[in-house]
Amino acid sequence: MADWDVVVVGAGNAALCAALAARESGASVLVLERAPEDEGGGNTRFTAGAIRTVYNGVDDLRALMPDLTDEEVAITDFGTYTSDQFFDDMFRVTQYRCDADLAETLITRSYDTLTWMRGKGVRFQPIWGRQAFKVDGRFKFWGGLTIEAWGGGPGLVEALWQSAARQGIEIRYSSRVLNLLYDDIKVSGVRVKTPNGVESIKAKAVVLAAGGFQANPEWRTRYLGAGWELAKVRGSRFNTGDGIRMALDIGAAPYGNWSGSHAVGWDYNAPEFGDLTVGDNFQKHSYPFGIMINAEGKRFVDEGADFRNYTYAKYGRVILNQPNQFAWQVFDQKVTHLLRDEYRIKRVTKVTAPTLEELVGKLEGVNPQAALAELTAWNDAVMTEVPFDPNVKDGRSTRGLAVPKSNWANRLDTPPYEAYQVTCGVTFTFGGLRIDGNGQVQDVDLAPIPGLYAAGELVGGLFYFNYPGGTGLMSGAVFGRLAGTEAGKAAMEGTTRAAE
Ligand SMILES: Cc1cc2nc3c(=O)[nH]c(=O)nc-3n(C[C@H](O)[C@H](O)[C@H](O)COP(=O)(O)OP(=O)(O)OC[C@H]3O[C@@H](n4cnc5c(N)ncnc54)[C@H](O)[C@@H]3O)c2cc1C
Repeated sequence: MADWDVVVVGAGNAALCAALAARESGASVLVLERAPEDEGGGNTRFTAGAIRTVYNGVDDLRALMPDLTDEEVAITDFGTYTSDQFFDDMFRVTQYRCDADLAETLITRSYDTLTWMRGKGVRFQPIWGRQAFKVDGRFKFWGGLTIEAWGGGPGLVEALWQSAARQGIEIRYSSRVLNLLYDDIKVSGVRVKTPNGVESIKAKAVVLAAGGFQANPEWRTRYLGAGWELAKVRGSRFNTGDGIRMALDIGAAPYGNWSGSHAVGWDYNAPEFGDLTVGDNFQKHSYPFGIMINAEGKRFVDEGADFRNYTYAKYGRVILNQPNQFAWQVFDQKVTHLLRDEYRIKRVTKVTAPTLEELVGKLEGVNPQAALAELTAWNDAVMTEVPFDPNVKDGRSTRGLAVPKSNWANRLDTPPYEAYQVTCGVTFTFGGLRIDGNGQVQDVDLAPIPGLYAAGELVGGLFYFNYPGGTGLMSGAVFGRLAGTEAGKAAMEGTTRAAE
């Protein structure tokens, strides 16, 4: 006899969407979360809640966000984000490696899944602050990312927890699932470690949604490569690859970009793991409006290659690969008003100076002569004849530099100058488990493992090399809902058959 119809492993966005979906079929659902309650919610709780969805115009947005006023609509160009645009972005940033079936599921179910989440009590709002600048009195959204959950990641987790409670879903914290109960044919539950000891819990179906392996320095070094143990973890310390490991242990197929991860520029002095009181604010995402130099005083990447949403997740790796794993981001007063709020927090590694000569002397770890020569060469190379516009790829570029900047180039000539030191912050890992069109985990022969489903960061095959901002939450929601629906259905069919 099973104790529960469905057991869900983890209590982040993917897990909670899975639990809510499974419950819709009448299944009894238990959620097991490794973290204590005050640290629960996984990486989801560290996010700003930005979520990438298809929308074909402002009417679609108003349906999701009925609080939008006529005045707000009048002063904003929301544009569209069609499924074609989403497909283009997924394929382009992953260098055409992403699994086309997974991408299709993600994209075609994105808007419908947000509508479903709204029905569960999750509220959304436009990301005015981070994704649109006011130019000539009007906001214009860019980069395909327009919506965030009300209250950011903490608000999203709270709304999902409350919804789970209303549906009679039980969540047990400080409950680390150790392995799956498996009889060589089907999964029939989990073994879990709690403060009271280890117990077995039987279930008709199990959904794994326990995140990636980014908080495990040994796995990072083993799979991402040498030096990755030196990265800082942006979010939860509990995502150490348990869900992936326990599925591989019973013969699940590994899938996707196992040497790849989402990693960003992150404050040099940030702690080893994320800090919920700071959330995502150790990140420093406004580099498209400045330049980055390394210990040798050199620029090393095109800071303006694309909108931030399409470069930030791969530039953490580039920074990790610099000497001593750091970079300084440099800005002048022409652009400091465009810097995101995260530049104004207290725990920030920042220097300012009235001249470039003084600034380079303050950049710890940097060769000052080489840096000054680089900044001088930079100032000579900016194509000032092209107008600057932060809302579009303005083509304001450089000429004659070994490392060009393609957009938003500005001379550094308006003091005081500001510089921020960043290192690599790893967000989540791209490799994971292989699922089929029902969210069911596949074994190494590519047959579905009866009773086992998966969703969220531990699913491989969607992201390779890079990632379009806001897709992690959307993927967790779409595939969580799918896995939960199918797990619930399978469990209830089993129940019906047993009763016959
Ligand atoms: C700082 C930061 C900012 C981000 N910003 C955004 C953003 O704005 N938009 C976006 O789309 N994405 C963002 N992301 C990525 C996003 O967090 C993830 O893609 C998404 O939240 C992952 O959801 P998930 O449910 O798969 O994993 P998680 O939310 O991490 O949940 C996994 C859960 O599994 C639990 N767990 C682990 N092992 C076990 C075990 N053995 N037993 C039981 N439970 C276990 C963990 O404690 C955790 O609660 C951000 C990430 C970070 C770190």
